[in-house]
Amino acid sequence: MSTSDKSPDVIVIGAGPAGYVCAIRLAQLGKKVLVVERERVGGVCLNWGCIPVKALLHAAQTVRDAAEGKRMGLLFQNPEIDLVALYGWKARIVDRLVRGIEYLFKANGVEVMTGSARFVGPEQLAVTGEQEEMLAAQQFVIATGSKPVVLPGMEPDGHAVIDSNHALKLVELPRRLAIIGAGVIGLEFATLFSRLGAKVTVLELEKQILPGTDPELAALLQRLMQREGISFELGVKVSEIVRAPAVAVRYRPGADVTTKTPSADLGVNHRDTESQTNPKSEIQNPKSSVLTPDPGPYHQDTKTPSTDPGAQTPDPDFRSIEVDKVLVAVGRRPMSDELGLEWAGVKAERGFIRVDSGYRTSNERVFAIGDVTSGPLLAHRAMAEGIALAENIAGSGRKWKFKAMPSCVYTDPELATVGLSEPEAKAQGRAVKVARVPLSAVGRSLTLGRGEGLCKLICDAESDKVLGCAVVGPQADSLIAEAAVAVELGLTAEDLGRAVHPHPTMSELLFEAAEAIHGRAIHVANG
Ligand SMILES: Cc1cc2nc3c(=O)[nH]c(=O)nc-3n(C[C@H](O)[C@H](O)[C@H](O)COP(=O)(O)OP(=O)(O)OC[C@H]3O[C@@H](n4cnc5c(N)ncnc54)[C@H](O)[C@@H]3O)c2cc1C
Repeated sequence: MSTSDKSPDVIVIGAGPAGYVCAIRLAQLGKKVLVVERERVGGVCLNWGCIPVKALLHAAQTVRDAAEGKRMGLLFQNPEIDLVALYGWKARIVDRLVRGIEYLFKANGVEVMTGSARFVGPEQLAVTGEQEEMLAAQQFVIATGSKPVVLPGMEPDGHAVIDSNHALKLVELPRRLAIIGAGVIGLEFATLFSRLGAKVTVLELEKQILPGTDPELAALLQRLMQREGISFELGVKVSEIVRAPAVAVRYRPGADVTTKTPSADLGVNHRDTESQTNPKSEIQNPKSSVLTPDPGPYHQDTKTPSTDPGAQTPDPDFRSIEVDKVLVAVGRRPMSDELGLEWAGVKAERGFIRVDSGYRTSNERVFAIGDVTSGPLLAHRAMAEGIALAENIAGSGRKWKFKAMPSCVYTDPELATVGLSEPEAKAQGRAVKVARVPLSAVGRSLTLGRGEGLCKLICDAESDKVLGCAVVGPQADSLIAEAAVAVELGLTAEDLGRAVHPHPTMSELLFEAAEAIHGRAIHVANG
């Protein structure tokens, strides 16, 4: 072990969206920064999450567009999917973005060390790479992110049972895929593999998809996904994954769980973790009337001869589906267990590092941001915290506190939300005005071949301020940014309705919704 002669002002552990953004902004503000990263820079977002999944979803969208061409008088042959080439294309996008971050580190004078960091004292870090080095600094930023939750009996093996990382390394498409978890990750992979030709069944413990999301929008999205051929089994508890000789998922309906009261600071990914690991969520009522399963071609009932021992159990509620692979997407947990937090006096709760409003941990020289802290597991939250923390540490005087945290689900159509949902606002006892504008009200949606969906705007009845917005529709991810600005800056429906929105664009949805709040929308009948 050697003691490094490096003397950075700040050491950032982890080069995901939280860490790399924080490091660059610190360097811009004059700090000498060292980043320690054990894998490739870019973190989960670039290498295993946001970017590769969206690249593949875009390709899958092309398959759907080609199929839909028929309606427009454009006839294409059925596409042949070369999965290896497709994944190669995705890898090149990732590589390019990773190189971009490496370039930005260099351009900003940020030093990078490859290795795994752990605290060995309150202000001392050991980094294990090719050798072990001891590092010291004035301040430390923990930005080590998260990893998939592994449930007992459902451990991924990379073959029969996979997690989201494995799903991005497949060499062959599964013909039948079961996805456990109807959170963001589960639904995005459901969209992807269904488009690529797999028969997808999504199983979820709670009684709606995207637990915690406004049930009206979740139900709408579910209906549209079902129309695409994706099957859902909601309110069910998976009891076992059979790996051989045939892969099967065994489950029972009637999990006694109620959808949690939505909470503004928890993302759906995070809720997944809670719903699936919370022991209180065990089944107590095996005869729930909520489940109306659609026994698709891959469903077997208990009377079907099977090697599955559960099949011999005389339990009429027991179900089993045979598939080629099972993707477990039941949430993510913080990557904090190998950090030697106890040596640094840094406190954590269920693995999430506890921080104050300035991202300071229980050790005043150590800060934490991103997925490793409690809050929505989102790359843009991680990046925003990276900037805010750097500004705090460098004392730039610019205080950045955000209240609007948008969240996007890249299904087709997309679902994007920001601020309070209608049930959340009502649960807070607020008097609200709600506008609902169907997608068909704006011409642009029909030109995109997507006339179904909804924009919901929630405003305070007294002040007219925009409290929240949710959109199910194409380009919802971009559309929600305008609503995020409105929530963040406390704009009113009157403000939104005064701004001219370009035509024909999906942004007109927000204009119509703002006007509908005052009963003067043009393209929908005012209620
Ligand atoms: C399939 C999938 C799709 C997603 N899609 C989206 C999306 O569309 N939009 C969105 O906003 N979010 C999305 N997310 C979530 C997003 O990826 C995360 O919220 C984001 O990456 C968190 O950033 P982070 O910097 O906190 O952590 P991470 O990105 O996890 O980065 C942490 C880094 O720390 C490194 N590290 C960990 N421990 C150590 C150690 N001891 N020493 C050195 N280095 C260490 C890791 O190698 C990693 O590079 C998705 C996630 C997944 C899994």
